[in-house]
Amino acid sequence: TDFKSDKQPTWCPGCGDFGTMNGMMKALANTGNDPDNTFVVAGIGCSGKIGTYMHSYALHGIHGRALPVGIGAKLANPNLEVMVAGGDGDGYSIGAGHFIHAVRRNVDMTYIVMDNRIYGLTKGQASPTSREDFETSTTPEGPKQPPVNPLALALAAGGTFIAQSFSSDSQRHTEIVQKAVEHDGFGFVNVYSPCVTFNDVDTYDYFRDTIVDLAEADHDPTAYDDAADAIMDGDKEYQGVLYQDEHSVAYEEREGLSENMAVIPDRAPDNATDLVREFY
Ligand code: SF4
Repeated sequence: TDFKSDKQPTWCPGCGDFGTMNGMMKALANTGNDPDNTFVVAGIGCSGKIGTYMHSYALHGIHGRALPVGIGAKLANPNLEVMVAGGDGDGYSIGAGHFIHAVRRNVDMTYIVMDNRIYGLTKGQASPTSREDFETSTTPEGPKQPPVNPLALALAAGGTFIAQSFSSDSQRHTEIVQKAVEHDGFGFVNVYSPCVTFNDVDTYDYFRDTIVDLAEADHDPTAYDDAADAIMDGDKEYQGVLYQDEHSVAYEEREGLSENMAVIPDRAPDNATDLVREFY
């Protein structure tokens, strides 16, 4: 697509991040976005390299802080298409505070978490979404604590678009990310994106065998109670849109906000330097 850069990814062959990124690029293209008007912000981790591989404006931010950067960019320039990407470690450990507040603030942007349930870049430590009994280099007998459920966290924080997809199911994954991009507010997608090098339990085969597609499970994504019930059934690996608030109003469109918001002009005014001097 137009969103593919000429850089060759250095991800391990077979890494789920390839499929996750392809779906993101297709979703952006299918929704009529232009690389010249798209800003991809990534955190730290294997997932963090994504901005280099996508042809758009991009920033490789610091660990766990990609969301506030994305929010700032979107509020300064509401016409920009903003997509933030990160991993489960980045988003649900060091970035967990930002995640909750980004969800409840509901700025019109998309957040993709490439969830492989392990820290890959630092060679295989347990992450917030690792299973309780997953033996890793830092947890030889397993983390012995329940994993974070990202969908439950987002639902509890007041999320208006909460979904999950599987990087290997290319068509469904693209479709789900596309819906997140189109959503008027914070579109959140947790993507099962297997790490073939350090995670031998949450594998492609495991997800293929266990995934339940919400679209085939008589699930109404606009019904909050349906979403809450699905979350309570914690053993299922869902794919699809868990919840979408049809009446969502993006933060920047709320009454009393947009008219007061400073918007970056298309170009700096001729007297910009004088204005800055005057200010100081
Ligand atoms: Fe992908 Fe894991 Fe390799 Fe990182 S270590 S590139 S997550 S397969």
